[in-house]
Amino acid sequence: ERERLMRLRHTPAVTLDGQRIELLANIEMPEDAVGAVNAGAVGVGLFRSEFLFMGRKGSLPNEEEQYQAYRRAVEGMQGMPVTIRTVDIGADKPLDKGQKEDTHLNPALGLRAIRWSLADPAMFLTQLRAILRAAAHGQVNLLVPMLAHGSEIRQTLSLLDFARAELDNRGAVYGPVKLGAMIEIPAAALTLKLFLKYFDFLSVGTNDLIQYTLAIDRADESVAHLYDPLHPAVLRLLADTIRECQAQGKGVSVCGEMAGDVAMTRLLLGLGLRSFSMHPAQILAVKQEVLRADTSRLTPWAQHVLEAEEPALAMADPLSARTEAE
Ligand code: PEP
Ligand code: MG
Repeated sequence: ERERLMRLRHTPAVTLDGQRIELLANIEMPEDAVGAVNAGAVGVGLFRSEFLFMGRKGSLPNEEEQYQAYRRAVEGMQGMPVTIRTVDIGADKPLDKGQKEDTHLNPALGLRAIRWSLADPAMFLTQLRAILRAAAHGQVNLLVPMLAHGSEIRQTLSLLDFARAELDNRGAVYGPVKLGAMIEIPAAALTLKLFLKYFDFLSVGTNDLIQYTLAIDRADESVAHLYDPLHPAVLRLLADTIRECQAQGKGVSVCGEMAGDVAMTRLLLGLGLRSFSMHPAQILAVKQEVLRADTSRLTPWAQHVLEAEEPALAMADPLSARTEAE
């Protein structure tokens, strides 16, 4: 099976009805770019930069170290785009796992991701400068996690301007970046107009969007049975985000686990998604699903699933647009 899939490496991801689908990789370290290229990824849709920050006993990577790491990822992707997410520290990704430093009552609802970054502007500016400098070496998209408030968006953008001014003053070389926001909090998915005003593209972080929509801690085993990607509320927010972006001609992708789950590929295609970012190990299996899909049949089927009381059951309905039983 693995060998059969490997033959799809260089096959373009195009559906039966000719829709081109972008299959991107999620990576955690610059070295992961090799695996992404080998798996046939056409870019990195999510570089989780916090992995450069974790497990260092409190010391943070300086600008040069970050710049080198981002640059390695960009060069590793050989001209393909790399989406670098600013640090998502906190909750399930603590700075230091060994240390029980996280005494927050509810870390998932606490100081994590962009909130953590905005609480330490000097640290955040260091990262922004490093990313801008790496953008001189290839196509870089800058992605911001966990935004919910207009004020957070505006603060982030003004810090980005400030980082550019710092680099200008220093005479440093840097490149242009496309700006993206992660849609991970229902509040964000419900205020898409605001996000589309400020950002070039959106990326749906379904792992967190599910957690926050359903009030289920993604790390708590005792409620794992209620963590449901197919909950109608989750699907509604996802469908709206995809539709709004397309209506405005903005890029949209999904970079949560859902994007790499072959059981979800048809549904996401039916909801209009054309860009998926996932663990490199999933890319070929998802590509196989794409090659067998006919979006003209999946679109009405996905609407039916979206309206269903139990979408998981509706997905199994005979009306489902399976093009091949296998
Ligand atoms: C997500 O929340 O879906 C996501 C991709 O980000 P992370 O899993 O790193 O929180
Ligand atoms: Mg997330």
